[in-house]
Parts: sequence; C-alpha cells; structure tokens
Amino acid sequence: MLQGYRAIYFLHSSPCIKRICSHATVVRYNTRMRIFRRRRRVPSKHYVQHKELARTFVCERVEVFAREHGFAYKRISIRNTRRSWGSCSELGNLNFNYKVIFLPEVLAEYIIVHELCHLWEFNHSARFWAHVEAILPDYRARRKLLRRVEKSPARHLYVLNTSLCGY
Ligand SMILES: [Zn+2]
Repeated sequence: MLQGYRAIYFLHSSPCIKRICSHATVVRYNTRMRIFRRRRRVPSKHYVQHKELARTFVCERVEVFAREHGFAYKRISIRNTRRSWGSCSELGNLNFNYKVIFLPEVLAEYIIVHELCHLWEFNHSARFWAHVEAILPDYRARRKLLRRVEKSPARHLYVLNTSLCGY
C-alpha cells in the first residue's frame, strides 16, 4: 500500500484508492476520480474577530427569554455555519451562527426564540409555531424579513448595524 493512501470499498464498485491530504480527499474508482474538498480548518479571521461579541450578544438574550418563559437549555455554541442561523440539539444545546450580530435585532431575536422553542417542540409543527407566536406575536413578519435579508447581497451580513430593518 502506498503511503498516505488507503483502500476503501464502495458497494457495487471495485476497490478504489483514497488519497487523504490536508484540504481534500481524492477518491479514484476505476477510471473516474472525485475530489471531496474538506471544510477549511483555519477559522476565518472575521469569525475569530466577532465570535466573542456574538457570544455575549446571544447569551444575554437567551438568558432574558429563558428567565421570562422558563426555557431550560444546556450549552450555547457560536459557530460559523454556512447555511443555518441556529440549531438546537435533542440534548438541549443551542448553536448560533455568529453572523446573527449583523442582523437587525428583531431578526436576531426571532432566531433565538425559534431555537429556544425547539427545546419544547423538536419539530416545526403547529404547536411549535404557537410557542413562537406566544413570545413574538409578529414572528411571521420577522420570518418574512429574514428571508428577504438572506436574499440581499452577502456583504450586508458582514457589516454591523445594517439598516435593512424596516418592516
Ligand atoms: Zn426550526
């Protein structure tokens, strides 16, 4: 076996060779080849610069909502996720995208309340939305605005105090 390579086997295909290097995985099967890029290991400078600010912002608001409405959560993580604003695990851990601090506050709040309500309802059922609505009666407008902001040029999501709010 070549150094740095290991054989892997796919169902319904002949053995192939997988090359593992620091930023990509090259898989060759028969005559075809595929490259799977790895997620960058080095966190972006922008994320590193804003992570703690985001943590302070998020933790403060989570605490306020948790105290007022009786949510019990475990850990809060601030991440640089590509596609999600937040998530909630079945263990009660909350994850938030650090870019929530670049959103108008009404949207950051909506994201936080949305994830907190998943502690009660681990789905998007009518009951889940009823919880969200009980806390944020205007959540529909906030959701709509969030969709609009997501469609706006990405640079708007990297600048503090955007003036995109106005629904
Ligand atoms: Zn959700």
